[in-house]
Amino acid sequence: MIGVCAALMLFASVSDASNDASAAAARESLEEASWAFAYWQGQVEAVSPAFALPRAPKISLRFKQRAHEPAGAMTLFAYADPGAVTLELSGSGWERRTAHGETILARNAAHEVAHVLQYRHGEAHRAPRWLHEGFADALAHEVMADEGRAEGWGGGERCARVLRRASVRSAQNGGDEAALYDCGSLAIRAVADAREESVQDLYAAFAENGLTEEAFLALAAEASPRFRRSVEAFLRTDYSLADPLWVLRELRAGRL
Ligand SMILES: [Zn+2]
Repeated sequence: MIGVCAALMLFASVSDASNDASAAAARESLEEASWAFAYWQGQVEAVSPAFALPRAPKISLRFKQRAHEPAGAMTLFAYADPGAVTLELSGSGWERRTAHGETILARNAAHEVAHVLQYRHGEAHRAPRWLHEGFADALAHEVMADEGRAEGWGGGERCARVLRRASVRSAQNGGDEAALYDCGSLAIRAVADAREESVQDLYAAFAENGLTEEAFLALAAEASPRFRRSVEAFLRTDYSLADPLWVLRELRAGRL
């Protein structure tokens, strides 16, 4: 299994924690959550043409009943392989269809299909994790934004929380998901904008240049050497005493 990438745990409400779920309850949960699988599958199929995939990826769906999961939990785990995407859900929170649940599923579907696009350009998982996941989020964001469905996504709130604590690089090294996905995505989108090209075109150039961080920074330097230095500063400088919104603004302007 390659491309493990999105594990998300949400607790809609924690009450009546009956952890002793029987097999019958599991079957019932699966039936109740069937809307979520159908929705995700529909999103994968709908978004695939925007990534110029010749066909929608093969889809696998699983529901897991986990012991000790509190009532109302919504756990999502998904991954992509070349030509295939898998969604695994658990938790009784998925039984109820909500707009919030739909948003999570739609973004995740776009993120996973983005990984399939990445695999079409070569051995995507060889890229540093922040570039692999950051690009998947940036590619997904671009497609959703084109459809007018990215409102409230990718504005930098999660990355701002990282910047308040530490440098992006040290948070990434510590495995911080927001630093890998959200700060990564923002840096990538900034470089695509500076180069006045789409994230999809930037990814194609990145893959062609070898999928390394140096390849990415070289593409930033093509926008301007100053822009490359700014991206490097964004990654390695501890900005915990600065206003994170200023940092993100200066990143986009290439002035860090
Ligand atoms: Zn991913």
